[in-house]
Parts: sequence; C-alpha cells; structure tokens
Amino acid sequence: MAKKDFNPANNIQDLQLFGESGGVNPSISDSSTYTFLSAQTMLDTFEGNTEGCYLYSRHTAPSNLNLGEALAAMEGTETANVAASGMGAITPTILQFCEAGDHVVSSRTIYGGTYAFLKNFTPKLNINTTFVDITKLEAVEAAITPQTKIIFCECVSNPLLEIADIKGLAAIAKKHKLQLLVDNTFSPLTISPIKLGADVVMHSLTKFINGSSDTMGGVVCGSQELINSLRDVNNGACMLLGASMDSLRAASILKNLRTLHIRMQQHSKNALYLAQKFEADGVRTVYPGLPSHPGHALYNSMMNDKYGYGGMLTIDAGGLENANKLMELMQEKNVGYLAVSLGFYKTLFSAPGTSTSSEIPEEEQAEMGLTDGLIRFSIGLDDDIERTYQMMHKCMKEVGVL
Ligand code: PLP
Repeated sequence: MAKKDFNPANNIQDLQLFGESGGVNPSISDSSTYTFLSAQTMLDTFEGNTEGCYLYSRHTAPSNLNLGEALAAMEGTETANVAASGMGAITPTILQFCEAGDHVVSSRTIYGGTYAFLKNFTPKLNINTTFVDITKLEAVEAAITPQTKIIFCECVSNPLLEIADIKGLAAIAKKHKLQLLVDNTFSPLTISPIKLGADVVMHSLTKFINGSSDTMGGVVCGSQELINSLRDVNNGACMLLGASMDSLRAASILKNLRTLHIRMQQHSKNALYLAQKFEADGVRTVYPGLPSHPGHALYNSMMNDKYGYGGMLTIDAGGLENANKLMELMQEKNVGYLAVSLGFYKTLFSAPGTSTSSEIPEEEQAEMGLTDGLIRFSIGLDDDIERTYQMMHKCMKEVGVL
C-alpha cells in the first residue's frame, strides 16, 4: 500500500482554483438558479448531459463543486458531494446503497445521531442493522447475512475513541462483496481510509475540517459512479432528500480547509501532552496516542505522517456529578467551553452519555463501556498547553477528581 506516498495536505494545496478577474480564491456563485440562452441546453443540463452548466443550486453549484473537489483530493477519491451537514451526507449515502429488505453491519460505537438513524429510523424502511464490536473482526464477519449491503464504521469512534482496522474490514467487505463506508470525522488527514481499502469516506465538515464552529457541513467522497447516483434527479438520495449546502458556506469551508494540516498538528500536539499528563496523574484517560490505548499499534500502522493522533480524548471523572462539576468549573476558569461538537480553537467538553450519545439506551451505553462519568474533550489550539494543563489540574483537584 503506497500510504506513505500519499500526502492529503499536498493534494489540497496543489489544487488551483481561481476566481473571476484572477482572484486567488474562486468566485462565489451567489445564485440558487441559472439562466440559459437556449431551452435545449436547459433540458440537457437537467438530464446531466452538459459539462460546466448549472441549473439549480440544490443539484449542484460551482462553489460546492470546488469544495467537493478539494475534499476528494484530500481523501484520494474520484470525486465528492458536499451536503448541508454530516448527517445530510451520511444518511442519504446509506439509503443509496440499501433498499427494503437489506441489512447493515455497523460498529456499535458511533455518533449518536447515526446510531439512532440505523437503530430507529431505517427499520421503518425495512433496512435493519446488526451492531457489533468493530474491534473484533470475527464478530463483524459473523454478523454478515446474505442481505448485508454495507459495513459502516468510524475510523476513530465517537465517543469511545475505538480504532477500526480499516484494512481488515476492507478485506472482509471485499470477500463478501460489500461496501465499506467510513466516517472519518475524528481523523481527517491523519487516516486516509480509501488508501487502506475503504470504498466510501464521509465527514461532518462541521468539526475539524471547517474548524471555526460557525457552520454545518458534510461530505461523501467516493467514485464518480456513486456521486452521480447520489445526484441523480430521479433516484438520487442527496438530490431528493435535499440536504444541499449553501454556496456561501461551501466557499468559506474551502478557505478553512487550507489550514487544516496546521490545525490538526496543533490539536494533536496539545491532546497528546494533556493525555500523557492526565494519565501520569492517575486519571483514567483514553487517547489513541497513549501506548495504553488498545488500538495504539493499529493506529500507528494506519496513520499518515505528521498529523498525530488527533484532538479527541476522554477521561473518566468517576460519576456524572463529578463530571458535571468539573466541566462547569473548567468553563468558569475559561479553560474551555461546556459544549458539544469538536474541532474548535477553544477546548470543548461534554458528557456524551447525557448529550451526543444520549440516543443510545442506558443499558447499551453500559455494555459498550460508555460510563456516565465520561468526559469527551476536543482539545483546542492553545498556544500554551502547559498553562492549560495547570488550570485543568487545579479544577480536577478542586472537584475531587484527583
Ligand atoms: N459523524 C460524527 C463522528 C460526528 O461526531 C457527528 C456530529 O457530532 C456527525 C457525524 C454528524 O455531523 P453533523 O452534526 O454535521 O450532522
């Protein structure tokens, strides 16, 4: 596998997308609809036969195509389709692959919204899911039935930070003629799932990729055939479910994408520093960069150079009350914000059991190791992480976590 030769940041940087009048950024197409000189060209465009012509911005728009092209370059796919949110990319893609009667094998530790979609929503369409421990390849293979169409996982799972063996899963998918769909939201640049054998990669752009917590966005990166089918006017799930991105947002996310490599390095550097300190203090800490993480060696075998182990870490505060007290105090001391989401310049923290994973029933949370004292951190871009650590350490002492 030529993983080491693949540099996703170079691929983004090498793209030259100019604007009108020689602008160094592409012009924003601030229109929802487009005029035609001839009625025939309009008809041809509706049918998707006219390269370079635009009809209506729910179908596609120049700014959205530019962002999609950059994200496809990052993931090493033929092309990509951007959407209004991460869920706006993930849900239509699953529906594009599955019809009534089909079956999905999914990791049981995934973002709560995706979990709820597969657990509660798709069964109404007679698409059923078996949730498995994704770290056990034999459990994944055992769950496959003749109706299975896709395997779904997150490279680094939300919120437990379990590491999926993308090469191993890709081999199983290939053997059973299934598609491996991977949500790479927690590990952009760091892991390149397509290079490891995945078929489709999705992201919530709302997180690290945009990085300024000012917009929602999503993307599905895959083959031209898949993206064409998602955009098909008669049968495309992206087209018909309508979660299209606005052009102004596509333009702003593209600009932020260009600094992703620098931001990821700083998020990772800071998170590793804090994880090592917390662990040395005796706090139960989960971070893929720690040798104590069960997926550490696997992560090392999959990661691209330079970007580290990502900005996400969890600690166990030993109960919900402690977790809540600690988060409130850290916010009061301006260490970070008590907020869901990730990838911001400021550290964000939340208790997943009562927030982003609350869709998962309590007994299932317990089974997967999601304790109520778990705090998920998205570590920020702090310039002086030693200072941040000292403040966190003080907060932990004050509420009795240490
Ligand atoms: N995938 C992961 C791993 C997430 O953490 C999230 C949101 O938290 C999503 C998908 C959904 O993305 P969005 O909120 O942009 O719809």
